[in-house]
Amino acid sequence: MKKLVSIVVPAYNEEENIPIVCKSIARTFENSSYDYELIFVADGCTDQTMTVLDCLTAANEQIYYIEFSRNFGHQLALKAGLEHASGDCAISMDCDMQHPCDLIPELLSKWEEGYEVVYTLRKEDKQLPFRKRVSSRLYYKFLNTLSSVELECGTADFRLIDRKVIEAFKNFQETEPFLRGLFKWIGFKQFALTY
Ligand code: UDP
Ligand code: MG
Repeated sequence: MKKLVSIVVPAYNEEENIPIVCKSIARTFENSSYDYELIFVADGCTDQTMTVLDCLTAANEQIYYIEFSRNFGHQLALKAGLEHASGDCAISMDCDMQHPCDLIPELLSKWEEGYEVVYTLRKEDKQLPFRKRVSSRLYYKFLNTLSSVELECGTADFRLIDRKVIEAFKNFQETEPFLRGLFKWIGFKQFALTY
């Protein structure tokens, strides 16, 4: 039997991006040795996201959604999606294609090597204005002075976690979680992929 990969995507007013994500994920898993389920977490959307999701889920039994009663924010949307994932591992990624699907095979290959958290680091974009690059570096520097958990600059909410980690994560009941910090702190065998 193939292993199941849960893809968890928080979505706030993403009517245009959702069909693109569905297509990209389908392409990524075409002829793959894995099965996948795609879970969208609709975070109090006010555009046509729900209509789009109803349409897509009716036509594809690998696609699911959770609908929030109001907007709760990205982190709680991610948390809900991970708590409902039924895969052998879960990959969280944004809906706006800032997290490239092309990296999914690499995340999976590191998982197969035995890593239980495979997180990603976005390389500094040299096109960004100097001011933005500096403020991003300062953000991580400041964060790291406040906490004993060392977060690398560019850490993204684009990561793979093993079923073991999902189960451990379900014990956290924070109402305002900061998942980048939490998954660095949680332990297990970790690997950082740069993109
Ligand atoms: N998102 C969400 N709830 C919000 C805001 C954003 O679920 O209140 C989702 C959004 O649809 C996207 C992801 O979280 O999939 C990241 O959002 P965004 O691209 O706005 O964040 P940024 O790229 O600035 O980190
Ligand atoms: Mg974005």
